Amino acid sequence: MDELTKGVLRFEKDIYPKRKDFFDRLIARQYPRALFITCSDSRVVPNDITDSDVGDLFMIRNAGNIVPPYGEVMGGVSATIEYAVMALGVKNIIVCGHTHCGAMSAALHPETIAHMPIVRSWLNHCESARRIVAGYVDLPEAAQLKVLVEENVLAQLDHLRTHPSVAAALASGEMDLFGWVFDIENGHVFTYDGSQGAFVPMSEDYLPNATPKRRRRVL
Ligand SMILES: [Zn+2]
Repeated sequence: MDELTKGVLRFEKDIYPKRKDFFDRLIARQYPRALFITCSDSRVVPNDITDSDVGDLFMIRNAGNIVPPYGEVMGGVSATIEYAVMALGVKNIIVCGHTHCGAMSAALHPETIAHMPIVRSWLNHCESARRIVAGYVDLPEAAQLKVLVEENVLAQLDHLRTHPSVAAALASGEMDLFGWVFDIENGHVFTYDGSQGAFVPMSEDYLPNATPKRRRRVL
C-alpha cells in the first residue's frame, strides 16, 4: 500500500493543482464519450488504451467484462447501464475483452474454480460463448482461449441489447455498440465488424460497428 499512498499524495500535491481548471470544468456535469465495459484485470487500463482523459469514459468493470441479461440480475451492472444511457445520454457502448483473461481461462476450465461458488455462478453468463468454444476442442489451448475471449464479447453485446434503455436507443438509431479485444501482448485493439463477422484491426478510415442498428421507423 505504501506505493499507492505515495501516489495519492503526489496526485494531491502535484497533478491535481496543475490541472485545476480542467477538473473545475467537470464539477458541474460529466459528458462521457462512451460507456466502457471491461474486465477488472489490472493490466487493462481503459484511459491508456484509448488515450483518453478524466471524464471521457463512464465505466463498468467486473471479472470477464460480463453484462447479465436484463431481468436476470437487477444489480450494479444493469443500473449503471440504465443510468449511462438515460441520465448521461451515452450514445456509444464498448464491451472490451482482453487476451490472457483469467476469468475466461476459468470459464474454459471450470474445475479450477470449483471452490469459488460466486465466481462459478457469475461465469454462467458466458456459458453461450463457452459452448461455442466446445466446437473448437481440437485447437491448441491458447487458440481456444482466444476464441472464447472474442465470443464472450459478442455474447455480452447480445445481453446488452436485452436492456430496455439500450434496445430503445438502438431502435431509434441513436446508439452504436462496439466489441473490442485488447491484446496485452502487443497493445493492439481489435474491433468487431458486424458486416464481416470478424474482429479486425483498428483503422482511422473505417470504424466498424458491432451490431447493425435499426433506424427509426417511418410510419
Ligand atoms: Zn480478464
